[in-house]
Amino acid sequence: MSIAENVARIRAEIAQAAIAAGRDPKEIQLCAATKMNDADAVRQAIQAGVDCCGENRVQELTAKLAENAYEDAPVHFIGHLQTNKVKQVVGKVDLIQSVDSERLLLAIDREARKQGIIQNILLEVNIGEEASKSGFGVDDILPVVEKAGNFPNICIKGLMAIPPIQHFDGENLKFFQKMYQLSVDIKKKIDDNVMVDCLSMGMSGDFPDAIRCGSTMIRVGTAIFGARDYARIHQG
Ligand SMILES: *Cc1c(COP(=O)(O)O)cnc(C)c1O
Repeated sequence: MSIAENVARIRAEIAQAAIAAGRDPKEIQLCAATKMNDADAVRQAIQAGVDCCGENRVQELTAKLAENAYEDAPVHFIGHLQTNKVKQVVGKVDLIQSVDSERLLLAIDREARKQGIIQNILLEVNIGEEASKSGFGVDDILPVVEKAGNFPNICIKGLMAIPPIQHFDGENLKFFQKMYQLSVDIKKKIDDNVMVDCLSMGMSGDFPDAIRCGSTMIRVGTAIFGARDYARIHQG
């Protein structure tokens, strides 16, 4: 199947899951997770109507920006970002979805101030409490949001999570529900002028469940582009 056919199928599945949950399909953005796919594939996805592209690695982001791969589509950063690389990402992307520490918040704020911009971000939650994954703990989120004033050049738009790899359908529902509850709790406790409306969760294998639980942004790679060729990338 072509990228365009895949995107059309995913849109239909988004609509189905949204309507089943009593939601408007328009509430859910489709972010193409473009890692390991070249500029041509990225352009095909944009032409097929994805809402934005998400890049994982700074090097790939930089290379594809130079190729004008994203054209006018919004670009997000969705991978682990090292503080020494913020300069290559801040101001280059519309949203950094994967802010996973206060140290990184500080580094992004400093770079955004230097550039005279406000950088939009999401806070990444390590919802499965996995040692192998980065992200804030569930209990860290409210204190960080309350400290948002310490980061005047950052705008926190919401939360993002990458739950554990599923072994069976529905296994991650409990994590998606926990994320939704966390976002509702945060909204109740903070000022009205802080918007944390974005809830980025759900990937190729589990996005209908994430939508049922309130996701507003799904990040889909394999279902759009096919399986990634890891061997090719590791050989450089
Ligand atoms: C690769 C990636 C995705 C998409 O994963 P698929 O299973 O291929 O849909 C989503 N989010 C992040 C952060 C990723 O790195």
